[in-house]
Amino acid sequence: MVIAADGLLPSIAGGRPIRENFLTFGAPLIGEEEIREVVDTLRSGWIGFGPKCLRLEEAFAGYSGAAHAVSVNSATAGLHLSLLAAGIGPGDEVITTPLTFVATTNVIEHVGARPVFADVDSKTQNIDPERIAEAVTPRTRAIMPMHMAGRPCNMDAIGEIARSHNLTVIEDAAHAVEAAWNGRKVGSISRFTVFSFYANKNLTTAEGGIVTTADGHVADRLRRLRLHGLCQNAWARFSNKGSGSYEAMEPGYNYSLTDLNASLGIHQLARVEENLRIRERHWRAYDEGLAGLPALETPAPTRPEETHARHLYTVVLRPESLTVGRLQFLAALKAEGIGSGIHYLPVHLMPFYVGKYGYKPGVFPNAERIAAGTISLPMSGKLTDQDAQDVVSAVRKIAAYYAR
Ligand SMILES: *Cc1c(COP(=O)(O)O)cnc(C)c1O
Repeated sequence: MVIAADGLLPSIAGGRPIRENFLTFGAPLIGEEEIREVVDTLRSGWIGFGPKCLRLEEAFAGYSGAAHAVSVNSATAGLHLSLLAAGIGPGDEVITTPLTFVATTNVIEHVGARPVFADVDSKTQNIDPERIAEAVTPRTRAIMPMHMAGRPCNMDAIGEIARSHNLTVIEDAAHAVEAAWNGRKVGSISRFTVFSFYANKNLTTAEGGIVTTADGHVADRLRRLRLHGLCQNAWARFSNKGSGSYEAMEPGYNYSLTDLNASLGIHQLARVEENLRIRERHWRAYDEGLAGLPALETPAPTRPEETHARHLYTVVLRPESLTVGRLQFLAALKAEGIGSGIHYLPVHLMPFYVGKYGYKPGVFPNAERIAAGTISLPMSGKLTDQDAQDVVSAVRKIAAYYAR
């Protein structure tokens, strides 16, 4: 069936599309339990930060092997608060990857520090510890690794650099709820680990996130900062347990999650490993269906130390083997009824960062090569096996038609 698709005319060139109904990229798998829990919250008389957020926090701490989990209304908020709680500010440098979502570096700007990029490894697409070591200066205060696509960074090497230079590690684990490095669960390794529950992430609350830490004082500071700097949460104030009084200890932020969102998360978390098994199956189907195509590189095989969270299945187009560029390839996929994404355009070449720091193309060659050719194929627990086969058929058809 896959073979039969080769040689057919792509829909964009007048052929018949692989699918009638569009396959949305990143569609979440939402169960009846989530729907019932949301309705229960709506009827409960309290929909803001409250008991369901606390339930999610406790369950998430247990799942990730962390002593504390502090929920927030986005991973971006969690990264911002982590930098603040780490005491990072003007004059400080934070080393991170150029192949990430702009939120990772935007928050470094928010606290007045400078993002310093270290190139990624060409195969794993993760920040390269050797490049991190080269980027350390007397002003470096933290390292923010990001576990690209759900593949964990080498946390032994990163931890070693951090220890030897007395740096804080803040992991951007937006893709990596299920990941582990060398037997250690992501969330239990560094001083701060920040997960995203955004709409298309492995575990979703529509918007939301959580920060894990082993340090109770850090957790308390994060809790205070997420709620305007107050020493007591609104639920505690308004429920029968609270005193009704409140005091600001510092000018904090409005970064709390809500019980409506947490209602989704509680059940998403209960099924997180089950959903991972589904994505692992689709991952194998893509690996097998796309193996050996000259037009593209499939993801590097997983190494023994890596427990991969299978968030994004990214292929990198080989421009020398194709007659069209990446955007045309994406448009052709869309015409077949397949949604896809780009993860990521390189942050250092975004207009703001070019304007402020003067980066020129060529400074981070691995990140730039990947960024120029990368396409993310649908990867979600909601995909059926037939959906995954449709993706394979569409990619093969387009790759064959535009083969150089
Ligand atoms: C999604 C994402 C974020 C931001 O997460 P939000 O919860 O949407 O704020 C940050 N970094 C990476 C790598 C992401 O993929």
